[in-house]
Amino acid sequence: MLKIDLKRCNGCGECEEVCSFGAITVSDEKAKVDQDLCTLCGTCVDTCPEGALEIESDDKAPGDKKDLSAWQGVWVVTELRGSSFAPVTFELLGKARQLADALSVSVTAIAIGSNIREKVQELVYRGADRVIVVDHPDLSKFMDEVYSKIVAHIAAKEKPEIILAGATAMGRAFIPQVATMLETGLTADCTALEIEEEGRNLLQTRPAFGGNLMATIVCDEHRPQMATVRPHVLKALAPDTNRKGEIVEFEPTKELLEHKINVLDSVVEESDGPSLTDSEIVVTAGRGLEKKENLSLVEKLAKCLDAAVGATRAITDAGWISTNHQIGQTGVTVSPKLYIACGVSGAIQHLVGMQGSDIIVAINKDKDAPIFDVATYAIVGDVKEILPVLIKKICKERGVKDV
Ligand SMILES: Cc1cc2nc3c(=O)[nH]c(=O)nc-3n(C[C@H](O)[C@H](O)[C@H](O)COP(=O)(O)OP(=O)(O)OC[C@H]3O[C@@H](n4cnc5c(N)ncnc54)[C@H](O)[C@@H]3O)c2cc1C
Repeated sequence: MLKIDLKRCNGCGECEEVCSFGAITVSDEKAKVDQDLCTLCGTCVDTCPEGALEIESDDKAPGDKKDLSAWQGVWVVTELRGSSFAPVTFELLGKARQLADALSVSVTAIAIGSNIREKVQELVYRGADRVIVVDHPDLSKFMDEVYSKIVAHIAAKEKPEIILAGATAMGRAFIPQVATMLETGLTADCTALEIEEEGRNLLQTRPAFGGNLMATIVCDEHRPQMATVRPHVLKALAPDTNRKGEIVEFEPTKELLEHKINVLDSVVEESDGPSLTDSEIVVTAGRGLEKKENLSLVEKLAKCLDAAVGATRAITDAGWISTNHQIGQTGVTVSPKLYIACGVSGAIQHLVGMQGSDIIVAINKDKDAPIFDVATYAIVGDVKEILPVLIKKICKERGVKDV
């Protein structure tokens, strides 16, 4: 909190003048602070000519710098999709393994659900040294309120130094609540995670300022360090059935299972083609198609290849196709084996959602288009002329007739 030494304060008002948050007022020649408005930015401390202002840290705050060494180990909050673990869980375990080895600590996976005991061994095969299983009939449906209480409760007791989770609909719903309960920071949507060379801080990299630069964020005064990563950004380890790990059960108390919101039903979204995030081939349409009618060229090529159709924001904004198809910073992240970009410029906000693809083929009439910087194969030319040739040839090769 911001403290004012009233003996030193002479009521000059400089602090009141520089405070952008209206947190300081001077009356009767003394400064007063409204702690609710103060953001602890420190501007007033630097400005005060008398040195009367000081930011005092709360010694009792959980995760205080003094206690950092008490927090050890890397955790992955797992995610179940129906009866099996979501691929992002295995991707996070692969990264957790790497981080834990760099820190010489263990990897713990936390699995929450109902009737999940038989499934958790796979988490060990994918890199976990230990699995905490919270298996209870009341946990058959995902409820952010209950999940966040359980994760925060166990983490407060066990003190992991790092907690990773998926930047998925589920992770986004409850991981920020866990961070709030543990009074620590959370970096969402990371694209890279490393351990600082000196020290044990997690370097959390993510796009910032509309994707125009990459920011590396460090949470060096609090523990745990929490980060979410989108699916398909990290690489999973191949399952190793020789790996051994400890499975421990946690019985949730009645209080932890209490909730104010009841989930009545969960419905699987209907899709009109292969899933964008799971498909091995993605054909993406950009504004270079010139008009909505030409989108059928991309759809035909996708059909020949049994691929999913992706889109840039330029064409989802234009209403050519639904936003469910949008790839990039404000869309989904994909990393298929083959990515075909048709009339896509390669703006950074698009690249962050697809540059992990194994092979990238780009078709663009501008030979200097940024998409060619990440492309494996570049086709310079008019997409309206190239796509019909590709469709004809590929359909013939694959024996696809009705496109
Ligand atoms: C905060 C923020 C978030 C964003 N999030 C996303 C996101 O998630 N996903 C995303 O995609 N964008 C996103 N954007 C928008 C992004 O900056 C670009 O504007 C967008 O990706 C451009 O789409 P495009 O490549 O289809 O269009 P353009 O940039 O207009 O590129 C069209 C390309 O087609 C080529 N071309 C034109 N005619 C032809 C032809 N006949 N044949 C072949 N090539 C041709 C041109 O040379 C050009 O390179 C975001 C922007 C902001 C500010």
